[in-house]
Amino acid sequence: MRIAVEGCAHGELEIIYDSLLEVQKADGKKIDLLICCGDFQSTRNLTDLKCMAVPDKYKDMCTFYKYYSGEKVAPILTIFVGGNHEASNYLQELPYGGWVAPNIYYLGYASVITIGGIRIAGVSGIFKSQHWMQGRYEKPPYNNDTIRSVYHVRNLDVFRLKQLTGSIDIFLSHDWPRGITKYGDEKALLRKKPFFRSDIESKCLGSQPNMELLEQHYPAYWFAAHLHCKFAALIPEDGGSRVTKFLALDKCLPKRKFLQVLEIQHDENIPLKISYDLEWLTILFLSNHLLSIKSGTHYMPGEYGSGRWIYTPTEEEKQKVLKKFNGDLEVPLNFTQTVEPYNPEAPKGFVEPATLQINEQTTEFCNKLGIDDPFVLLQVISGPTEKKYDMTESMAVASCDNVIESSEIFSESEDEGLCNSTFDGDNSSYTVHSLSGATLPSPKRNVDNCYINEEISSKEISEPSLEESVSTTNIESPCDSTTQGTHIEPNYDPCPPLVYDTLDDKFT
Ligand SMILES: [Zn+2]
Ligand SMILES: [Zn+2]
Repeated sequence: MRIAVEGCAHGELEIIYDSLLEVQKADGKKIDLLICCGDFQSTRNLTDLKCMAVPDKYKDMCTFYKYYSGEKVAPILTIFVGGNHEASNYLQELPYGGWVAPNIYYLGYASVITIGGIRIAGVSGIFKSQHWMQGRYEKPPYNNDTIRSVYHVRNLDVFRLKQLTGSIDIFLSHDWPRGITKYGDEKALLRKKPFFRSDIESKCLGSQPNMELLEQHYPAYWFAAHLHCKFAALIPEDGGSRVTKFLALDKCLPKRKFLQVLEIQHDENIPLKISYDLEWLTILFLSNHLLSIKSGTHYMPGEYGSGRWIYTPTEEEKQKVLKKFNGDLEVPLNFTQTVEPYNPEAPKGFVEPATLQINEQTTEFCNKLGIDDPFVLLQVISGPTEKKYDMTESMAVASCDNVIESSEIFSESEDEGLCNSTFDGDNSSYTVHSLSGATLPSPKRNVDNCYINEEISSKEISEPSLEESVSTTNIESPCDSTTQGTHIEPNYDPCPPLVYDTLDDKFT
C-alpha cells in the first residue's frame, strides 16, 4: 500500500490532491491512501468558518466545501485526525468518526480502524491540562472559551486508547508526544525553531498523554503535525524490541515539507477499504458509561476503585460486539450532507450561527453498537428544540477573533536541513516539499534522509465465530461516571501554563 502523509492541511485540499496526482503521474504508481494529521479545516460553509478558532484574517473557505458539495470528489481515500483549527461544529457531529465528504474519513475524537489489514489509531485535538479531565460539554454556537476547549484532548479518549492490545501499525496525532525531540536531531530543530528551547528544556513541548500512548503501544509509525516543521525521530522501547518511527510534517505551504510518501506492505487479499477495529469497538461499548457531557472534573476508573477499571475486552466480549455488526466491520459508505454547502455565487449577508446537528452516520453507528452520541445527550439537556439565536452568544463568538494569534511569525523559509539524522535513506520514497502556483514540482528521490525504510508486514483481521448470542448490556447514565470509586489521574502538567500553552495558538 502506498501512503501519503500530510502535516497540517489547513483547508488546502485541492493543492494537496493536485500534488499527489502529480506524484502518481511522475512515477506511474498509485497512491492508495492520504493521511492527514490535523488542522484539516473541513469547513462546509460560512457558518462552519465561524466555528474555527482563528482570527478573521485567516478565515478562508479554501476548498473543502467543493468535496462536501459534490462539485469535486476526493481522488484518493483520505483519513484525518482533528487539530486545533477545525470546523469544530462539524467534527463534533462525528465523535466516533465518519465521512465528512465522500472518500474523506475523520477518525473522531479517538479511534482505531484498519485499511487493507493495516491497523491505524488516532487521537484528535491538542493537549491542554485545564480541560483534560472535563467531559464533552461544548456545543455550538461556541463562546469565547468553548471555541477553543472543544478541540482539547480529554482523558476518556486516551484512557480508551490505553486499553488496546496487539500491535498498532500507524498512530496519528496532531500535537507531538512530549519529549520526542530527544530521540531526533534536536540541535537541528532548535536551529530552525529556537523558540522551542525553553519548552524543550522544561519538558513542556508536546503532549504527555501522547508520549504515554507511544510508550505503551510503540506503533511502527507515529505521524504528527501542529508545530509546522518537519522532524523525525526513532524511539526504541526501553528494555524491549519494539521501535517507533516518528515523523512530523509541516503545513501545506509553498516550499514546505508537508507531504511524505511511503510504502507499507499489506495483505493483498484484503481490500483497501476502511473497517472498524473490533477491539476498539468493544472498548467503546464497554466504556460507554464513562462518557461525560459535563464540564466538571471527570475521573477515569483506577486500580483502587470499586468497579472495573481495565476495559481491555475479552474474546467473548469482542464476539458479542462482532455479532452486533453481523460480522461485517466495513465502515458503511453512508455520507450525507447535514448543512447547505458554501455557494461562492451567493450574496454575502448574515451568517447563521452554528447549531447542534445530529448526524445520521453517528446515529447509525451508536444504534448498532449500543452507545451514546454526546450530541444527543447535549440535546436532551438543552431541551427538545434548539433555543433561538442569541445575539450575545453570536457576539461572543465574533469577539474571540480578537485573540492574538501570531501564525504569521512562523511564515519563515523552508526548514532546509532539518532533521536529517534519524531515519535511514530509502530509495523508494520522496518528500514533496515545494509547491508554487500552478507549477507542481516533480518529486525528488532521496531528497531527504528523514524517510522510513522499513516495510511493515500485513495483518490478518481475524473473523471470530458469530455463533454466540448477543447479550443485552445496559447503558448507564453517561453523567454518572464521576461517582465511580477511587481514581487515579496522573499529574500531567508541572509546566507553567505560559510556556507551551500559549504557543498552542500561535501554531495555526
Ligand atoms: Zn495545529
Ligand atoms: Zn497547523
